This record gives sequence, structure tokens and C-alpha cells, in this order.
Amino acid sequence: MEASGGDRVNRLDQLLGSLWASPAGKDRWTGVCPRHAGDPAGLFIRLRRSGRVQLRCERACTEAQIMSSAGLSMEVTLPEHLAVHPGSGLVLADASLIKPRKLQWLWPRRLPLGTLVILGSDPESGKSTLAANVTATVTTGRPWPDGSTMDCPPGEVILLSAEDLVAEVTVPRLLAAGADLGRVRFMYGVMRRSTEDRLAGFSLVEDLSALDELLGDFPHCRLVCVDTWECFLGDLDTNKNTQVRSVLMPFAEIAEEHGVTILLLQHLNKNYDMSALHRIAGSVAIAGAARSVFSIARDPDHEDHRYLINTKTNLSKRAPTLAFSVEPTAVNGAEIGRIQWDPEPVEVDMERVLSPQGARRAAPRAPKLEEAKAFLSEALSGAEEVYGEDVKRMAEEREIAPKTLRTAREALGILNAARTVDGKQRTFWSLPCRDQGPAHESREGGK
Ligand SMILES: [Zn+2]
Repeated sequence: MEASGGDRVNRLDQLLGSLWASPAGKDRWTGVCPRHAGDPAGLFIRLRRSGRVQLRCERACTEAQIMSSAGLSMEVTLPEHLAVHPGSGLVLADASLIKPRKLQWLWPRRLPLGTLVILGSDPESGKSTLAANVTATVTTGRPWPDGSTMDCPPGEVILLSAEDLVAEVTVPRLLAAGADLGRVRFMYGVMRRSTEDRLAGFSLVEDLSALDELLGDFPHCRLVCVDTWECFLGDLDTNKNTQVRSVLMPFAEIAEEHGVTILLLQHLNKNYDMSALHRIAGSVAIAGAARSVFSIARDPDHEDHRYLINTKTNLSKRAPTLAFSVEPTAVNGAEIGRIQWDPEPVEVDMERVLSPQGARRAAPRAPKLEEAKAFLSEALSGAEEVYGEDVKRMAEEREIAPKTLRTAREALGILNAARTVDGKQRTFWSLPCRDQGPAHESREGGK
């Protein structure tokens, strides 16, 4: 590991020198692309927060092409704590060169700054209304419903909304939530510059680097909310993990670079028998890129009542479930929904409310397991130990599945001993702690 702080400065100096760079702001330079040096098209150079140097050529040369034309290895663009092992090509990070950083929260325990967060829900569960509520809190700096406050001052919010009725629905919803509209921007589209400029819809597949560029000029932006992100993916299939990852990974890097929370709203799939987490399409890829996943679930007992459930997190303990209702309020003579939070967190069985069919199907298994446990206690109570194959055969006769029998064995702590009898390897089962415990009691009770 040759890399060090000093080495890094040399790397950056070497790169800036080779690309005829001149300063253009903090950690930014403009240079000349070596692939068309006589051409006035610009080369934009940026030192990212992560320590990586980013190159963007107006003629759309790739970073690899630019570096290779300048006679430099791509290693020169890497952060100082990374070094490429020459023989293997593997990239190692030197822990001693990584400055520890405290995690900052937009909403403590729920929305970490600098990360991707997924919010899944069934249609018409109030997720856009919830997004407006979050936007209002971020733009005003008011306390969150649990009483906590942001680790940063009130900030700007960029909304990507697939909702067409911005004037009729989205803005009134923000007003109803109490948002500071002066701090909210809608992503209207993108001007694609080619032979003929044209206004096109924003695409998470094509325009992430443009969003990255934009956020560089919005240093007070703290939240980017995409409602719903599937609408900005074009032909990309959210059920294909590699495709989901190809968008989420650079998106997560943008969140980290700019210290913003990127909140991706998503519809849950309609497989009510899948687990709560797996009802989020592409959940395997999402688990790799999103630090937190939330789901909105309907309260099966109350029509307008909802739960905000922390389905998954890998940053802290799971946040307690909050409950809310969407209540109508009048904005400019129209009736618009607004979030009314319940004052206290609630205990909710996540699988029961998000995976009702799965939970129902799992329920009948419990009596089967009890039956298997009772059978095992009985079969093993009469002798010191019993030949395991005999127990399995008896269980089969009682239509106890091998898997249920195994679960029952584990639950009762059945001991398992292997010995050679008559030249054959045999397994013997016995109850644990024969002088006490439930098995003993059941023997006593049986008398
Ligand atoms: Zn170029």
C-alpha cells in the first residue's frame, strides 16, 4: 500500500497537470480533453466528497478514454485511501486513511442523510401525502411526529413526481402539509442537447449524472423524493436485480456525495402471501443499496388508519412503528388529504398487516408443531433412549412431516447420540434433563 495523503496530492497534481486544468471553484477545475485538444469543448473535473476525481467531457468521452489518452491509469482518479494491487488488480482501502464520520439524520432513526431510503406501499395508501408531510418538515425544520429534530438546518427539496396534476394536487397537498414552497423544486424534465434541443422526461437511467451536477449547485438540498421511482425507469425491470442495481448504486453514490436523503417511493407487489420485505420488487438489489426500507400498511381494522413500518434497516435498531390517518382538509376550496399522526408509536405484527395471506397460511402450522412435540415427548419418555429411525417411522405414520419433526426436536432440545450397534452406525434420541423439565412433568401428569 503505497498510497498516502502526500501521494494523493501528487496523484491529483499529476492529473490536473496532464489535463491542462485551471481552478473553477472549490474542488472543481476546467481542463482540456486530450482526445480532441484543439476543440473548445470543455472538460469538467471535480474532486468528489468520496475523494474520487470525476471527469466529464462535453464531447461525451468516457473517463477511461480521457485517462488513457492522457497516458494516466484510472488509479489516479481513485480516493486517497484506495490503492490498486498491481498483480491482482484488486482494490484495497487503507483503514488508517479513512476519516471516521458521524452519521447525520434528516429524521433520526428513520431517514439518514447521504443514503437511499425506500418507501413501499399499496396504491392509495397515502404515500404521496406522507411524502408531502416529510417535505414540509424538511423545508420548515419543525419537529418530526416523534418529537425528534433534523441534524441539519431546514433545507431544500427536489421532487420528481409522476403525478400530472401538479397545480391541482401536488402543490395543494404541500400547502395542506404546511411546506415552505420557496424551498421546493419540481423536476419538470430535461433539455436533451443534440443536433436539435428537445424537452424530454427525466430518466433515472439516462439522467443521473445530470442530477448529480444539479445537486452540486443546490448545496442546501437535503431531500430528493421520487414518486414513484418505477415511473422514471423507462424499460428497466424492477424485478431484475442486476437492472435495479445498475440504477441504485450510482444513485446511492449521489446521495452520499451531496449529503442528501433520496427517498424512493415504490408500489408493493400484489403477492400478499410474500413476506413484508419481499413484497418490494427488486428487494434483493435494494437491500444492497438502500440503508432503510419502510412500508405503509393499512390497518385491517380501521379503514383510514395506516402504519409506517420500518421493514428493514442496517444502520440502527429498527425504528418503532408510527400510525397515521389521512384526513381531508380544505385548500383553495378543494378537499386535500393531510397526515394526522397518532401521538404514540404502536406495536404491529409486520407480517400480519403486510403479508396477510402468508401469515394466515403459516398459522395452521402451529397446531401441527404442537402435535409433533407432544408425540416426541411421549415416544421418548418411556426409555433411556430410542432408536432415531424408529421415531421417524412412527412420526411418518402419524403424518408428521420430517421438517415439522425436526423443528419439534430442536424446540424440545432432543439429544442425539451415534453409536455402533451390531456393526452398524445407529442414532439414538433422548429427552434432555431427564430429572426435570416439561418431559418429567408430562410423565408425572400421565400417571
Ligand atoms: Zn473528450
